[in-house]
Amino acid sequence: MASTSAQAETTEQAPAAPVAEFSVTPMASQSTGRTADAFMTLGMMLGITAPATAIRSGDIYTGAELDNYMQVHNIEERNGHLSTSELTEVTGGWYGTGHLLAPAAESWEQMRAAAAAAGIDLQATDMYRSWESQNRAYEAHLRGDKAANVLPPGTSEHGNGLAVDITNGHIIGQGDPEWAWMNTHAAQFGWYPISNETWHWEFRGV
Ligand SMILES: [Zn+2]
Repeated sequence: MASTSAQAETTEQAPAAPVAEFSVTPMASQSTGRTADAFMTLGMMLGITAPATAIRSGDIYTGAELDNYMQVHNIEERNGHLSTSELTEVTGGWYGTGHLLAPAAESWEQMRAAAAAAGIDLQATDMYRSWESQNRAYEAHLRGDKAANVLPPGTSEHGNGLAVDITNGHIIGQGDPEWAWMNTHAAQFGWYPISNETWHWEFRGV
């Protein structure tokens, strides 16, 4: 059965590998001695830390570089009023298109590629939101029509083009493979879950 489904195996084994090494190590050390045990321990450590440094394909803005970019381009003062030309169209828009500020867009694409290599398709309903669309969402929230917490227009990172709401048909949460992948890898790309909203991730730089 295992040899007939190479693709499924690849997807399933990738996240399980470090766990498997944990359970194999004690048994291996009993029969092969100290040297092997030390080697296995090193291998185990490499198995855990290697993905953290290997999956990022290029340079991503640091927090300081992002701060500088925000100041130079006067982004926060124009939250929700950014022009189309200063936003970058990105892939992974649940409704077709989505836009992010350039530093976040670059990182989002790298993160999507890394996730795709692990069989995860990261998509987002909301990315950049104009002042008007943030206001509509906020008013819906005040009316009780929107369960999620929505910030007033002018204050959300969606208005700076630095936030995404990740979905797989419903907003992601614990138990979703997309959430599990983000929880493990997103920080390597500078993305963080800022609030208790498991689907809302913000770019802060690496
Ligand atoms: Zn959001």
